[in-house]
Amino acid sequence: MSEQNPPREPVVSVPAFCPNQDCRYHDRRIAGSANWSIRFGAFRTLSRGLIQRFRCRECGKTCSTQTFSVHYWTHSTTDFRTFENQLTSASGLRQIGRMNRQSYRVVKNRTHRLARQYLTLFSHALEGHTFSEYVTIHGMHSILRSQYFPVTINILVGFTSQACYGFNMVITRRTGSISRSQREIRRTIESVWRSRRRSAENGTRQLFTDLLPQIERAIARTRLWYVISDAKKEHVRALKRIPVIRAALEKQRIRHSRITDRARHSIYCYNRLFSADYIDREIRKDMGDHAKESVKYAREINCALERLVIKLGSHTFTKPHRITGKVDTSDEPRHAEVARLTSTPIVASYDLWLYTHRHVFSHLPEEASEMDWIRTIWKRTETNPPIIDLKTGEMKRKGQPKEKRFARHLFV
Ligand SMILES: [Zn+2]
Repeated sequence: MSEQNPPREPVVSVPAFCPNQDCRYHDRRIAGSANWSIRFGAFRTLSRGLIQRFRCRECGKTCSTQTFSVHYWTHSTTDFRTFENQLTSASGLRQIGRMNRQSYRVVKNRTHRLARQYLTLFSHALEGHTFSEYVTIHGMHSILRSQYFPVTINILVGFTSQACYGFNMVITRRTGSISRSQREIRRTIESVWRSRRRSAENGTRQLFTDLLPQIERAIARTRLWYVISDAKKEHVRALKRIPVIRAALEKQRIRHSRITDRARHSIYCYNRLFSADYIDREIRKDMGDHAKESVKYAREINCALERLVIKLGSHTFTKPHRITGKVDTSDEPRHAEVARLTSTPIVASYDLWLYTHRHVFSHLPEEASEMDWIRTIWKRTETNPPIIDLKTGEMKRKGQPKEKRFARHLFV
């Protein structure tokens, strides 16, 4: 750890909850107000010395201080703050591995962990939240594995704060001007696998469905609430397919403001799609996956989503709203503060524990655990397109993208 970046919180020293999901002390609040655990010996490790063990008085389940640490089941301690900086400065995974003297698998494993830390932070920040600003919907284009699998990343961004409220990634069909041989390859791929119809529209609809409770509270509070997007028709169709939003549009409680490219690039008026352009630029410059003409493009969709949640989480919760050039930015408000996402004490404490305390899916608040975008990333449920042998036109037997073994403690 460098001197400029002191740790926010000392290492985990007391058990916060019983790890048994069926035990009543699994609930942090109940466990926090009860004397539920007893000391139960200790064990010595080569990497971290003596580790204290505990036993639950209720169910008998044992755990140790490591169970509640973000470094659970590891033999080396990663400085997650530095690791996050490396991930969000357009580095490749093997490049990070060489810098930190870690193998590729270790770098991937630490990405899985940090992504879940940010998902927890997003979940608690969005729980019970009411939009205090208008939102901009942005559909960003990138690729997965090759140009034959273009993806649209739908992101909901705050109009004033430029905080991210949610995102998802959908694979679309390769369109645009392509040569005859490229069309031939596309046909071969599509004989085995096709992207879903209207996937970009469905992605936008899913994102708004996920954030419907927050939107309903915003409509109840204000007379007229704006959704700003570019002029694409898919946004209009997506919004109209959600009954609550369609009704609000008809009653003039929500207005969908579509900005044409001409207005967007006009020098005579404020670009109302500034938030969309801003988040697009941030991702393109900070992520190797999504830089134009990148050779570091994503290969596996679930890993790509995890890296993206780290980028958008660090953008929202860690980065100052405006960069002023000052060396010490600790007094500057962050995007999440401008969006009033950090007003509850639980978000403030989880913000402090970002790089230290382990979080579990079963502790996510109710609204957030039902959000498709959070569940998809945490549980890794997105499916990859298959790798196809272009000579035979069949799926390759070996080398298909899948996680051979995934640690169970990262799913719970
Ligand atoms: Zn227990």
